[in-house]
Amino acid sequence: MTIAVDFDGVIHSYRRGWQDGSIYDQPMPGALDGLRQLMEQDAVFVFTSRNTQQVADWLFERGEFNITWEPPGETTCEFWNDRDRLLVTNRKLPATAYLDDRAVRFTNWDQALADLMPDQETSGRDLEDAMQRMKERTKQAVQAELRRLMRKASRSPSRIPR
Ligand SMILES: [Mg+2]
Repeated sequence: MTIAVDFDGVIHSYRRGWQDGSIYDQPMPGALDGLRQLMEQDAVFVFTSRNTQQVADWLFERGEFNITWEPPGETTCEFWNDRDRLLVTNRKLPATAYLDDRAVRFTNWDQALADLMPDQETSGRDLEDAMQRMKERTKQAVQAELRRLMRKASRSPSRIPR
């Protein structure tokens, strides 16, 4: 299996968010040992939009990993299957799982929209549905009342034919 691992917020603590492009923070607790443990079982690559050489240097300085880094725009492999080396790339290579602090697990679009637009899209749609049901019930009630009044009128003594 191949596992893709996000860098900021998963390996790098990133507590102040994006600054000036520098990798300023400490590793996330357990990150370096976690990567080593994963690599015993799976091929692992770090998938980041950062400068890949900078990320590779940071990982080597802190974890002494065997690292291959892919310069942006270069393709050194189509798949990553090497468990002895950690690849750093900004390409989304095939993987069995993507470990990411910003991930939303996709199962279907209704669920995805509900997760990503909890206050707008879903409740907006619910509101529209509720309005539609209310209009339909009102229309039916008005029609029923009109039929009742017409039946009553047709039975009225004032309508006795001459
Ligand atoms: Mg992240």
